[in-house]
Amino acid sequence: MSGPYTNVRPGASPGVRPNMPPPGMRPMQPGVGPARPPVNGQHPPQHPGQPGPGGPGPRPNPVSPQGARPRPPLPNQQIRTASPGPGQHPTGAHAHPPHHGSAQTPTPMGTPGSASQMTSPPHQGQPLHRSATPLGQNIPPQQPPHAQQPYQQTPQHQTQQPTPPPVSMDQNGAMNGLYNQMSNMTVGSNGAMDQPQGFSQMPPQGPQPPTEFKAKTGTRAKRVFATDPSAPPSQGQPSGMPPLPQAGANPYDPASQPYGAQNPGQAWNQPPAPGQGYPQQPPASGQGYPQQPPAPYQQQHQPPAPYQQPQSQPQMAPQMAPQMAPQSQFRPNQAQAQAGSKSRIDPDQIPSPVAVQEADQQEWDKMPFVTNSRTHATPLASTDFMAVDGGNCNPRFFRMTTYNIPSTEDLLNTAQLPMGLVIQPLAKLRADEAPIDTVDFGDSGPARCRRCKAYINPYMIFTNGGQRFVCNMCLFENEVDPSYFCNLDMNGRRLDLDQRPELRNGTIEFAVPKEYWNKTPAPAAYVFAIDVSWNAIQSGMLVQAVEGIKNAVWDENGASRLVPGAQIGILTYDKNIHFYNLSPGLEQAQMMVVPDVNDVFVPLSDGFLVNPETSQALVVSLLDMLPQLFAENKTTEPVIGAVVQAVRMALENRGGKLIMFQTSLPTYGPGALKHRDDSKLYGTDKERTLYAPQDDFYRKLAEQCVDAGLCIDLFLFPNAYIDVATLGCLPSITGGETLMFPNFNAARDGAKFTGNIAKIVSRPFGFNALMRVRCSTGLRITEHFGNFHMKNSTDLELAGIDSEKAFGVLVKHDGKLDEKTEASFQVALLYTTADGLRRVRVHNFSTPVASLLGNVFRWADMDTTINFLSKGAIAQGLSKPLNEVRDALTEKCVKILSAYRKNCASSTAPGQLILPESFKLFPLYALTLLKSKSLRSGKDINSDMRVHQMRMLKGMGVSESIAFFYPRMIPVHALEETVGVEDQTGRVFLPQLVRVSYARLNPAGAYILENGQNLYLWLGREVPSEFLMEVFGVATLDEVDSGMHYLPKLSTPTSTQIRTIMSYMERQRPKYLNLVVVRQGKDQSEIEFSNQLVEDKNNDAMSYVDYLCAIHRMIQTEVTTRPHEVHTSLWTTR
Ligand SMILES: [Zn+2]
Repeated sequence: MSGPYTNVRPGASPGVRPNMPPPGMRPMQPGVGPARPPVNGQHPPQHPGQPGPGGPGPRPNPVSPQGARPRPPLPNQQIRTASPGPGQHPTGAHAHPPHHGSAQTPTPMGTPGSASQMTSPPHQGQPLHRSATPLGQNIPPQQPPHAQQPYQQTPQHQTQQPTPPPVSMDQNGAMNGLYNQMSNMTVGSNGAMDQPQGFSQMPPQGPQPPTEFKAKTGTRAKRVFATDPSAPPSQGQPSGMPPLPQAGANPYDPASQPYGAQNPGQAWNQPPAPGQGYPQQPPASGQGYPQQPPAPYQQQHQPPAPYQQPQSQPQMAPQMAPQMAPQSQFRPNQAQAQAGSKSRIDPDQIPSPVAVQEADQQEWDKMPFVTNSRTHATPLASTDFMAVDGGNCNPRFFRMTTYNIPSTEDLLNTAQLPMGLVIQPLAKLRADEAPIDTVDFGDSGPARCRRCKAYINPYMIFTNGGQRFVCNMCLFENEVDPSYFCNLDMNGRRLDLDQRPELRNGTIEFAVPKEYWNKTPAPAAYVFAIDVSWNAIQSGMLVQAVEGIKNAVWDENGASRLVPGAQIGILTYDKNIHFYNLSPGLEQAQMMVVPDVNDVFVPLSDGFLVNPETSQALVVSLLDMLPQLFAENKTTEPVIGAVVQAVRMALENRGGKLIMFQTSLPTYGPGALKHRDDSKLYGTDKERTLYAPQDDFYRKLAEQCVDAGLCIDLFLFPNAYIDVATLGCLPSITGGETLMFPNFNAARDGAKFTGNIAKIVSRPFGFNALMRVRCSTGLRITEHFGNFHMKNSTDLELAGIDSEKAFGVLVKHDGKLDEKTEASFQVALLYTTADGLRRVRVHNFSTPVASLLGNVFRWADMDTTINFLSKGAIAQGLSKPLNEVRDALTEKCVKILSAYRKNCASSTAPGQLILPESFKLFPLYALTLLKSKSLRSGKDINSDMRVHQMRMLKGMGVSESIAFFYPRMIPVHALEETVGVEDQTGRVFLPQLVRVSYARLNPAGAYILENGQNLYLWLGREVPSEFLMEVFGVATLDEVDSGMHYLPKLSTPTSTQIRTIMSYMERQRPKYLNLVVVRQGKDQSEIEFSNQLVEDKNNDAMSYVDYLCAIHRMIQTEVTTRPHEVHTSLWTTR
């Protein structure tokens, strides 16, 4: 299976990659190319089976010019073990149901009239039962909204960032020799390796040895952590010489169990009982940190304030303030802290995400990342970097759990790492990155491999003087179409290489001919469907929706913000559906009411979709009129199912986006649902039944929408159960998004609501899409995670896809890989751009193969791994109880770290916690994932919120998820002049990050905490009044309006800097960052804020320190009870 590269490259000069683009250069001119063998017509090019063997060949060593990060020494233990592979998670593939309901012939509608008197339009040729009805009829007698349990709202928590990227590897050939020489190297106690001969060839500095945490054993169990990989070995550890393993150490013996010593019997996954364990860490002396560590854990146990019914006053902080008990409640914990001090571990001594992120950011502030670098680790997902396409695609589009593919399945199993990709095909580039080139091959379409259909890319090798090319996926030797022929130079490169971006760039777009169409490409339609039932009026949602739509579609001057050619349509609904004729010739919009929602039709053919500029006045006046028009509406039961059916009919031949605003569970019309929520099921095995749709109606409807290319975004405003599991099928299958606003309150949620409409409408968007991932021989794609539809096992069908949607792909071995070659991946997305162009976007990625476990870890990417594992865990949550999913996640964490410990650092003392540098933050991120609303325990998370959070994580990109898990926090009370200022590229430098723990907050300070969903501005109770004057224009904390969603625009330097920082953060995030002002000890929102401090004990889970200790204990158990597992692998004897 291993097609050695040399076998397929006749004619190329040895060791030189003919068409390898020099890093940093980019070509231009879309090449026009010659014909290709016919592509199988019809549906977008289906791509046949899996590729054949073989990766690309010897790389020309495109070492990036900029100072390469030196390659760390290789821990070179031989791998000797095989263990169970990473779990795989089933993905629901949906059977494709037949269409039902075909489009009705649209009928021209009635006479103009004022909207308020909208009358039933004169129907011609309409069956009687389809009579349109004037608004106001069919309004049932006054009905109060459903009286159901009010939602409890639970604060969120999240997490963020980074991982250390580590290792580098070199040119293949040279490396292999080195690896062999190093096969007997040992790992020093500080993780540094003894240098073998020949190692001096490696760059001299920069190695990042495994991070090590030492704990001295003994009855007093003092702990010493060494976090700095470059720090000298601590205490008594001879440099470079590992302590002898303590044979027979008993994991249960306190003497050999530093971390377990205090609580040998304490289950790792049980939070310590109050009063024991590790209380809040008081501030280190001299740091000026809070004297009173508040107790987030206790706060969390306060009963969440029940939300009020929407019609009541906005409940903001003031009335909740008394519950906060700001100071007094924290004291008990302080006392606990004293009592528990003997078990205290200095949090400054455990791995800090902040330090890792800052270091990576500083590195990539100095230089761009050249994507084909084999010497630099990929920037962390948290880092703001600039990438130069050097033949691999930008990491924004494509990240891997490890950039050294294990050569065999056994090696992968030994490492315990998942082998996966996270792909975000339409991710936004940074403003200073080169745009993606588009290449048009004319009627023949882009050049592709005849066997596996892979698209032409920089890793395909031209041979036979340019007459043939060898596919890097399947190794098939293809003939070059005469129109694409070009002579090769002495190095085997095509002479026209500089004019062929498709042969140089990792990412390319191909303009494609008709055979790639499934319908005539046209600009997207944006239809807004607004629930105008009783709840929508009473909650203020309708008023806010109108404002949000106007703001999203037109700028201040009335010009459209949508892409050129896009059209918009408006409809409203309660028990009936109201269409509007918006033809530009009309004086006023005409309403047409379709009352028979069980047999819905579209009552107009023209005027439903209009140009937002020519019909601007008409549409705006309609929108402005809606709140008044429906002010007295008492109808409940908004018929969401019928609305989707109608819009699908209207857009069947075109596709686009349907943005819906729904306030309650649909209990009438097609797709009527039952209220089935039962909080008694929460926390039980049966809870997951609530995560599955209650019937097939919405799934089938969503699949019809996929065929129509109709992507649905769903804004939900429930004040009771709304069944997100069932309704949410619409966005999750069509590639859209769900946004939740429980107990919507315009004062509290209005800015977030309208801000998110604008974000959704303005994102880069494609529709009628089909995506396939290919990989080179020896690997296969086995599972996909995310929000999409699949009719077969290889193609993701996406009614729509935007810049923020990501997919996980699980890769498995299909044979042994040749480490002399690289493994290749290609993502092809066939789609229609929002402005109506049919394109195939291709992302290529090629990466080395490793036969040493140390390299697999060295090049592992924790950010991607945690994102990937979260997608897998969510998928498992549908088939297993959540507590099992959580346990499995911790177990996975232990397995991975134990694998490193056993195989790469086996000679170190058992009392030491040794983590791979790349994964030293893995325990922290695993913990934050356990604390996420999608997985955490606690009956206070209702099933709607649970399912919503799960689906959101499934589709989340790596960068967004890292901030979501571990929020970004910065102090803003003492800003230097250099921060908070925008440079010419739009970049804003931030103050140094602070770890998210209450212990880090200075009561005399102010902090911004941002998690990609909200932006909290926390004000300590002792914050100086000068600061308040500068930022808020008031002198005391009591005068600050904590309900504000925008800071006052004051001209003081501090105000300007803070607003610049906020706006920069807002631009970086896919969702609108809602400002929440939190005054210490005064506002109820502090509970929600404290749940974001994920290093503390909260969210029904341990503190970071405790969890790390628990993980360490488990690793020790794993290592000491199965230390010899490493010798049992068959693989090593082969
Ligand atoms: Zn091929």
